[in-house]
Amino acid sequence: MDFLNRQARLIESLGSFHCLLVTSLTNIRYLCGFTGSAGVLLVMPERCVFFTDGRYTEQARSQVSGAKVVITRRPPALAAGEWLIRKAGRWRQKRVLGIEGEHLTVAARRRLSEVLGNKVRVREAPPMTEQLRLVKDEEEIRLISEAARLGASLFDCAVKFIRPGVRESEVAGRMELAARQGGADAMSFETIVAAGPRSALPHGRASTAAIPAQGFVVCDFGVILHGYCSDRTRTVWVGQPTAEARRVYAAVLEAQQAAIAAIRPGMGVGEVDRAARNVLKRSGLAQHFTHSTGHGVGLEIHEAPRVARGQPEKLQAGMVITVEPGVYLPGQWGVRIEDMVVVTEQGCEVLAPASKDFIAI
Ligand code: ZN
Ligand code: ZN
Repeated sequence: MDFLNRQARLIESLGSFHCLLVTSLTNIRYLCGFTGSAGVLLVMPERCVFFTDGRYTEQARSQVSGAKVVITRRPPALAAGEWLIRKAGRWRQKRVLGIEGEHLTVAARRRLSEVLGNKVRVREAPPMTEQLRLVKDEEEIRLISEAARLGASLFDCAVKFIRPGVRESEVAGRMELAARQGGADAMSFETIVAAGPRSALPHGRASTAAIPAQGFVVCDFGVILHGYCSDRTRTVWVGQPTAEARRVYAAVLEAQQAAIAAIRPGMGVGEVDRAARNVLKRSGLAQHFTHSTGHGVGLEIHEAPRVARGQPEKLQAGMVITVEPGVYLPGQWGVRIEDMVVVTEQGCEVLAPASKDFIAI
């Protein structure tokens, strides 16, 4: 990973901030490679300094790129504040330290301000690192594709175990074992296996409920491999399929394909959402599509951009997003189909493509 390049681009985007205190562990990993669970990165135009505690001495020295490593007994954010204050004597005017408002508690901010006194002003910064993370570089796309392939393989495992009477949690457990056996660091979120009426819950994580004799089973699953997340949904039918089940499944698949076909650089994310919604409107199902069409994926399972109505973001080559329309009929069942795509210069490429034909078990 080209950490120096990432740091340089972040420094270029500092604008009116003299320095930035990065407290999101994901952003820290992205900027300097550290994967531990405690630390802060102080980004300044002249250098970056990474603060962590004694548990991470070895790990920080071997992983951190492009930043001086400081091991401290103090909370790392306060150590960073004290470090800044030691430099402040040389400054003529007051400096502005940007903080990540989404990743610093109110109490930590207060303590930091106390350490900094009146030499440094603390101000919430816009999500600058998240902005860099929007567009994935070649190495990231390679790792995300690998994660997507491992993630996709879990569906074969699900199909083997989905049977009437089997618990949702049993199916999820088998998928999670296959993920671990395939080398996954972890699951990227709690595996969703939602059968029968529970498939109408867009986030029906696997429960101890048994799969009924008839109805859809929604499986939404993903792995983290080498730090990068995958996300995929497949829906299968158990029992003798009804005409309505086939009709709704076909409509959701058509909606997903229409959204994928709409993806290209320069296209607004709202347009992609509309492409899916328009298909469901024609089938009289739009009111049952109750969430947005997709989201970015990378080091985190949900990243920018949100592929939803009213979002201003335009697609750029190198973005990785999901396309996941769904239809949920309360009390009956639901259908969702999700793939990850990488936006290319020409359009997009579906990661780990596979047949999405109607499956009856
Ligand atoms: Zn998903
Ligand atoms: Zn998703």
